[in-house]
Amino acid sequence: MERIWIAGPCAAESREQILTTAAQLVTSSQEAGIELNFFRAGAWKMRSAPGGFTGAGEEALPWLQEVQNTHHIPVCVEVMNAKQVELCAKHDIRTVWVGARTGVNPIEVQRIADAVKHSDFTVMVKNPIIPDLKLWMGNIDRFLQAGIQNVMAVHRGFTDAQENVYRNAPVWQLPIELKVQMPELPILCDPSHLSGNALWVSELAQVAMTYGFNGLMVECHCCPEQALSDQKQQITPKEWAVMIAKLDLRSGTTDMSLVKQRSILESIDNQLSELLYQRMVTADEIGRIKRQQHIAVVQPQQWQQVVKRYQKHTDDAEYQEFINKFLELLHQSSIKRQN
Ligand code: PEP
Ligand code: MN
Repeated sequence: MERIWIAGPCAAESREQILTTAAQLVTSSQEAGIELNFFRAGAWKMRSAPGGFTGAGEEALPWLQEVQNTHHIPVCVEVMNAKQVELCAKHDIRTVWVGARTGVNPIEVQRIADAVKHSDFTVMVKNPIIPDLKLWMGNIDRFLQAGIQNVMAVHRGFTDAQENVYRNAPVWQLPIELKVQMPELPILCDPSHLSGNALWVSELAQVAMTYGFNGLMVECHCCPEQALSDQKQQITPKEWAVMIAKLDLRSGTTDMSLVKQRSILESIDNQLSELLYQRMVTADEIGRIKRQQHIAVVQPQQWQQVVKRYQKHTDDAEYQEFINKFLELLHQSSIKRQN
């Protein structure tokens, strides 16, 4: 399977930052013997809170055009509306993506689809921030129905109510189900927005390859520590090339029913690890309050209720035995920490 590698900064900040990052990516990819298929950069940035860097806007498009002309690598940009599609076309940028925030607004997505109708644009559709597969597939369908030949999906994870180690919850079973339902559609992974942290990018990139994803979109910056947005998650072009060259590209099993169950198990393990850690932190806080108020650490009735919560799912004897052992361990550790 041919893989698609996309890399570039979160945002286009200056002509120099764009040209330097692109040149470093080209050199590093040549040294590592890999092909950079697209250079990415956001010209317009949607920020959660006011006051953040919202991108250089239209001014960035000539810088990106320069990358395209110098290195003969197509450039891709996020578009949030039809007007931005028009501006991209004007600067000969013919690959765009729909971001996760725009993805929750089908009216705007349809307007973007109308703007690229029957053109030679390549369109990538990121998953909407909410884990709604129908919405993601609906957005993809809008571009297929608009006659776009090259449509790809990008998995970048989902917003979660609680704070996790990863910035966005992977919920791997969703892109896997998309693959089952649309087997012809290339699906890429964006481990940068998934992880939110340069430390975890390569680990998630490898998970995506093992699941048989068709490529990666990775945020790379010539000076990550100086980035004006998504600073924590950007890696250098050199680190990017080393990471890509090291990936094990043999995808695991191709039996999709097994892949799907594995992805569900992986999500459960992610959640369990988050929850067990949060349980410990919360128990520590309870211990602190108890000490302050001189309340005994062990509260037998309270613990009986905890046990009941875990026993309600099934009366399978083997499972009950496991749960009792697990809870005993949890309880002992909780008491030990609170003391
Ligand atoms: C991006 O790729 O820069 C971006 C904003 O991504 P997302 O829409 O996935 O948050
Ligand atoms: Mn970003």
